[in-house]
Amino acid sequence: MDPSEFRRHGHALVEWIAAYLSGSERYPVLPRVAPGEVRRALPERGPEAGESFEDIFADFERILVPALTHWNHPGFFAYFPATTSASGVLAEFLSAALNQQAMLWRTSPAATELEEVSLAWLRDLLGLPSAFDGVIYDTASISSLHALAAARQAAVPDVRERGLAARPEIGGLGVYCSDQAHSSIDKAVLTLGLGQSSLRRIAVDDQYSMRPDALRTALDEDRRAGIRPVAVVATIGTTSTTGIDPVNAIADICRDDRIWLHVDAAYAGVAAMLPGCASYFAGWDRADSIVINPHKWLFTPFDLSAFYCRRMEVVREAFSLVPEYLKTPEASEGARNLMDTGIQLGRRFRSLKLWMVLRHFGAARLRTILAEHIRLAHEFAARVDEHPDFERLAAVPFGVVCFRANPRALQLGSAELDLFNQRLLDAVNATGEVFLSHTRINGAFVIRIAIGHLRTTGAHTDRAWELLLQQTDGLAVA
Ligand SMILES: *Cc1c(COP(=O)(O)O)cnc(C)c1O
Repeated sequence: MDPSEFRRHGHALVEWIAAYLSGSERYPVLPRVAPGEVRRALPERGPEAGESFEDIFADFERILVPALTHWNHPGFFAYFPATTSASGVLAEFLSAALNQQAMLWRTSPAATELEEVSLAWLRDLLGLPSAFDGVIYDTASISSLHALAAARQAAVPDVRERGLAARPEIGGLGVYCSDQAHSSIDKAVLTLGLGQSSLRRIAVDDQYSMRPDALRTALDEDRRAGIRPVAVVATIGTTSTTGIDPVNAIADICRDDRIWLHVDAAYAGVAAMLPGCASYFAGWDRADSIVINPHKWLFTPFDLSAFYCRRMEVVREAFSLVPEYLKTPEASEGARNLMDTGIQLGRRFRSLKLWMVLRHFGAARLRTILAEHIRLAHEFAARVDEHPDFERLAAVPFGVVCFRANPRALQLGSAELDLFNQRLLDAVNATGEVFLSHTRINGAFVIRIAIGHLRTTGAHTDRAWELLLQQTDGLAVA
């Protein structure tokens, strides 16, 4: 592509993106396509001769756009938000153009040092002490994998040399989390060779928070059985109900037993910038490591996960490996090489988008937007609470409400109630105006609305509620 052609397509693309970002409501949130439809619409083989960008873009609009799930749609209320912003998009554009590969300080001094600076800004914004050093990974799953790898390194210092296989002297290893913890913790233990059976799922109380007494009991029992505790994972904002583990009490136990404490705050962590949420984060500053995903609720394009660690030297012990061809003199001058704190060698310039987002919004505006999302969630929860045919199934500390319809007139039993709510969710999602998802709480089917998009306003949550009422009436009559 010559420069003039690039300009032409580039400008057209910016126009397209600008229209998309402000007009994503033109599309149904969930695409109306069947599995295999996209694949069948595309040729089986790539072209031998290059094609014009116009042709490629025409196919993008014709085939791919109708099959997009619109995560940027203000009616996207499923899972957790992952919302982008114009400043983040521009940063990604630049990052692709610059193609920085920040494995070593010298392969990109800018990317290396901006990562440090932007993570320090975010850390301060969230009220975490400067003892936490940060590194950016792609996702929370990978951040937690690194946390548990470091914990394994701390618990079994020769693991790097000798591995874990055929070592009866180690006995068992245990990782502890609540029965509400994210499946990424399971994946981390199985990746690290600890085996899923090493993961102890600790019982929760009626607020879906880990019970410290149950943790204590599990640790004592395991110790007696010769099992070495590796780490405890506490969650602030669990995936199902946004439950909050009592991090202070858990930190006391970890301190007494010298166990690595990892806090998974992938979704909710950014809310620590709100004074009104401070109590939910009590004690998280005592953790050894913390993960927060700016790509979820901080308007940073996917992907960007912030990993903070008080013992980054242990992460380095676990992963630093410098072959001759990557030795550089700057290391002795205090330059940091990001390849030392992770599994991957090459890494892209993700900090650029975090830096641009933090600067463009500013802390005050970020706080205002997050507080508004939480206010909308409380307003939605109040509607559920006030309506005789709906019930709420969990507390609402952040932007998620868990609820279900339970029309009095129908007197539904528990299996019928699950089915009714499943149908209600399908019917509401089929409108294309909103997309909500579900979970199960104590076995019961529960609808979840997660409010956290940059462009979501009260009009969108009003509409979601209206659709739920309409479809509930429709199903109750049917
Ligand atoms: C979303 C989420 C994860 C996984 O996030 P990825 O970045 O997609 O790996 C882990 N834990 C919690 C609590 C989450 O909300």
